[in-house]
Amino acid sequence: MISDIESIRKDFPILGHTVYNKPLIYFDNAATTQKPRQVVEKIEEGYYNVNANIHRGVHFLSQAATEAHENARKKVQQFLHAHSPGEIIFTRGTTEAINLVASSFSDACMQPGDEVIISGMEHHSNIVPWQIQAARKGIAIKVIPVGEKGELCMDRYKELFSEHTRLVSVTHISNVLGTVNPVREIIEIAHTHGVPVLIDGAQAVPHLKVDVEALGADFYVFSGHKVYGPTGIGVLYGKEEWLDKLPPYQGGGEMIATVTFEKTVFNELPFKFEAGTPDYIGSTALAEALRYVETIGVENIAAYENDLMQYATEKLTAIEGVRIFGQARHKSSVLSFLTGHIHHYDMGMLLDRFGIAVRTGHHCAQPLMKVLGIEGTVRASFSFYNTKEEIDTFINSVERVRTLL
Ligand code: PMP
Repeated sequence: MISDIESIRKDFPILGHTVYNKPLIYFDNAATTQKPRQVVEKIEEGYYNVNANIHRGVHFLSQAATEAHENARKKVQQFLHAHSPGEIIFTRGTTEAINLVASSFSDACMQPGDEVIISGMEHHSNIVPWQIQAARKGIAIKVIPVGEKGELCMDRYKELFSEHTRLVSVTHISNVLGTVNPVREIIEIAHTHGVPVLIDGAQAVPHLKVDVEALGADFYVFSGHKVYGPTGIGVLYGKEEWLDKLPPYQGGGEMIATVTFEKTVFNELPFKFEAGTPDYIGSTALAEALRYVETIGVENIAAYENDLMQYATEKLTAIEGVRIFGQARHKSSVLSFLTGHIHHYDMGMLLDRFGIAVRTGHHCAQPLMKVLGIEGTVRASFSFYNTKEEIDTFINSVERVRTLL
């Protein structure tokens, strides 16, 4: 149970800010989350006290920085319940992690005519990398349709498999609809066809317990900045057996064992996929963010946020002319809507004047917008530091905008 919300909010100094003389209400958590003091202090401590390039140094500071970075990897491993630290690759974020898999997997495992299955509710970052590979390699992309309630059509999914299917790549939670997809079932079905699965966990890791081994995911990716960590750092989890098979994504320092002008022998996992100086300050701050989340408790976070979602959904539904996009049975923390004829951009601009930060537009999911037959939505997305009082203010403000326009 989350009981002392005020003391949690004190960990996030930005939540005490005002905008246009109104208390800031930050409902743009699906785009990025705010950072607790503990994470910011970890960054400061890293640069002030433990800053030296890692892995190559014999000196004290370099060894301390290396240890901090590798301990951060172990923290991520434990958080995701991965088998070994070698299965945790630090990337710049979800986008880079998916691009890595798309590039390396299609190089190693795909021929012209092979197929990848994605879903109709993917973020552009789980569409475009596959299109780039489709153009390079002549592979085809098949799409699981999204049903009326914003759930994946599982029967249609099963029909998409063919002897050419090589990979399934789908999101755990939709950043537009809030749908929590049945990823365990999706993975099980793919595995009966001998096909591996990549799960985009960008919207899931901040909100629910993720156990990659229990899910059976072959690849699982997420971004640090969406889980209270810094920007510029993210994670690719990959089963060792898959990562071993894949070629490096980039070449450079750190990822090599030996180099001559004729030939390079690549380093072991995970370093094979981490060319160049890694963001070792970012990794330690991400580990701190994960520790912070664990201190509150992932289950407590899920329960609290689900309560907020239910409260907000009920209140929003009661407003005349409101249409909510995404009516899935399992939803998490994302509420997309339109109000009558009011353009999403106008609603967002006016809510901003009331101090409320929401996102408007296509949310990097233009193909989904096309299916929904709209240009964009207003999206309110919640975190454990939000409150029902903030939702009340938000609801009153939506109502005011509705009567104003
Ligand atoms: N996938 C999903 C579901 C997302 O919500 C986002 C971020 N909006 C991304 C991928 C991309 O994440 P990033 O920009 O941090 O790489």
